[in-house]
Amino acid sequence: MPARTPLHGTAARPRRARLMPRPQAEAFLRALAAANPAPRTELAYSDPFTLLVAVVLSAQTTDAAVNRCTPALFAAAPTPAEMAALGAEGIGPYIRSIGLWQAKAKNLAALARELVEKHGGQVPATREALEALPGVGRKTANVVLNVAFGQPTMAVDTHIFRLGNRTGLAPGRTPREVEERLVRRCPPELLRDAHHWLILHGRYVCKARAPECWRCVARPWCNYRDKTEAPG
Ligand code: SF4
Repeated sequence: MPARTPLHGTAARPRRARLMPRPQAEAFLRALAAANPAPRTELAYSDPFTLLVAVVLSAQTTDAAVNRCTPALFAAAPTPAEMAALGAEGIGPYIRSIGLWQAKAKNLAALARELVEKHGGQVPATREALEALPGVGRKTANVVLNVAFGQPTMAVDTHIFRLGNRTGLAPGRTPREVEERLVRRCPPELLRDAHHWLILHGRYVCKARAPECWRCVARPWCNYRDKTEAPG
C-alpha cells in the first residue's frame, strides 16, 4: 500500500528539492514581491464574515467558482444572523455549483449560529476561536487572520505545499512543516504578503503539472532540477 501525502493522496507527493540557504530563499521571495508589490486574495469579500464564508467555500474548489456563487449568497445573507436564519437548506441552493456543497452548507449554517451565540455576531480574531468554528481548520484560520486581521500568518494550501518542496524554499512532509519552515525563513517584513505571492505563483506560473519556468521571475534562485523551457 503506497504512503499517502497529507494533502491529496499518492499522486500529489511533490519532489523535494535541496533546501535553499536563507539568503537564496530571501532573494526568491523578493523576486516574487518585486513582480507583484500589492498582492490580494482573489476571493470576493467585503468584511471578515464574508471572507470567512468565502474561504470555507473555497476548500477543494477554485476561487473563481466560489466568486460565481457568493454574490447571490451574500445578498441573501450578509451577516451571521441572516446566514444562521437561512439554515443549511436555505444556503444549499446558492452553492450547489461547487464541490462538497452539502457539507459546506451545513458547516456554514452551524458556523453562523456559533458566531451569533458565542461571538456577538463577529468573526473572532484569534486562531483558537476560529479553529473551534465548524468547517474551519488551520489553513482557513490562517487566511482569515492574515487577510482580515493583518496578522503575519502563512496559509499552506496545495500550491504552497508543492512550491515549498519543489523549489527548495521550504521542504516539508506535511503542510504544517512547510508552514513552520516558511514562517522561520521569511523576512518579517515580507511575511504577511508571502502567502499571496506563493499561492498566486503556484496557481499561475509554478503549476502542478508543468511549471512555466521560462517566464518565472524567481528562476535564478530556484533549486528545481527539471526547469522547463518555453514551448517551441
Ligand atoms: S523556476 Fe520553475 S520550478 Fe522554480 S519556482 Fe519558477 S516555475 Fe517553479
